[in-house]
Amino acid sequence: MAGQLIVQKYGGSSVANTACIENVAARIIKYVGKGNKVAVVVSAMGDTTDDLIAMAKKINPNPSEREMDMLMSTGEQISTALLAMAIHKKGCEAISFTGPQVGIITDTSHTKAKILKIKTNRLKKELDNGKIVIVAGFQGISTNDEITTLGRGGSDLSAVALAASLGAAICEIYTDVEGIFTADPRVVADARKIDYLTFDEMLELAARGAKMHTRAVEVAKKFNIPLHIRSAFSDKEGTIVMDKGERIEEAVVRGAALTEKEAKITLCNVPDEPGIAARVFTELAGSNINVDMIVQNVSHKNSTDLSFTVLKDDLSRALKISRKLAGRIGIKEVLADENIARVSIVGVGMKSHHGVAAKCFSALAKNKINIEMISTSEISISCVVKKELGKAALAALHKEFELQKK
Ligand code: ASP
Ligand code: MG
Repeated sequence: MAGQLIVQKYGGSSVANTACIENVAARIIKYVGKGNKVAVVVSAMGDTTDDLIAMAKKINPNPSEREMDMLMSTGEQISTALLAMAIHKKGCEAISFTGPQVGIITDTSHTKAKILKIKTNRLKKELDNGKIVIVAGFQGISTNDEITTLGRGGSDLSAVALAASLGAAICEIYTDVEGIFTADPRVVADARKIDYLTFDEMLELAARGAKMHTRAVEVAKKFNIPLHIRSAFSDKEGTIVMDKGERIEEAVVRGAALTEKEAKITLCNVPDEPGIAARVFTELAGSNINVDMIVQNVSHKNSTDLSFTVLKDDLSRALKISRKLAGRIGIKEVLADENIARVSIVGVGMKSHHGVAAKCFSALAKNKINIEMISTSEISISCVVKKELGKAALAALHKEFELQKK
């Protein structure tokens, strides 16, 4: 690819130390040498963000969100300046910017702000002058002129949003793995890198445990910006995520994923009356708790059991709300189970193939893995199993659908 505008995003592991930063500088210069314009988005070095958060919590367990944003946004600023210096040393022109400097405008919700728009005039001017522009990821400036951050892992989102507003040909996401795999290679040894995914498949995989920022994929899909998820430490092609088209062969099952981040809440003996589920989930939504899978049993004797999953991080809040509600609407008991895992399979071809669910459940049965909950979308099937069986379940599905084969 030559003569294009490319946005490249380098994650924390790609800029973990000065040697890594020099490696990134060399890679960027190679692209510019081929006649491309390059806008770079960087994350904070290594675990900097975690370290900053730990320091804050040591001083004040309940820090103000505004001050957290002031603090966390510094991590990315360090990497941008060091990267610019590394590029200068190699004799090329580069200029670093914070999010506010280039007009990444967000709403006012500190630590989880949404990007509203990006003013691209400054960036375009510098790019037209032949400079490599380097922008701090994960941050912006709110409509109240306060520094904001976009939520953990938010640099992906900065990069994709920047690619969309600059009209880039592609957004490359550099990380420490070769791309998206058919399953987590640390769990399934013969997992292989996937060459192509559709946006929808990537969205499902990201939501089900693959390492990619879900909102970033949503933005990429909305503005049709192809993503290339690849390693900063090799020249191998990674995984390209794009709109479906002739380049992407339809796969019935493209990949499998496992997440242990969720917990299950069961409301026992819920009165079987209209409006009860609406009340439960309205209250949870009102507290910004995302509910994922929901299963309601067939009622007997006018009461039913209702189970759903939430992120473990939200469990205590979700339980509090559920218990409060239970008292008011006559739910007998509220149970929580953190000992669960969710395994999923994803592929656009599921839409037009039958028997996928049967094959999935049989594979788990053959391995004596009990399914506690099931949910499906047009292009995915997920099962909740006991946490200690999650890895075996992932391996069983990977094998059953022959994902190891090319
Ligand atoms: N540095 C931030 C974080 O660790 C943002 C990012 O890496 O994308 O969450
Ligand atoms: Mg990071």
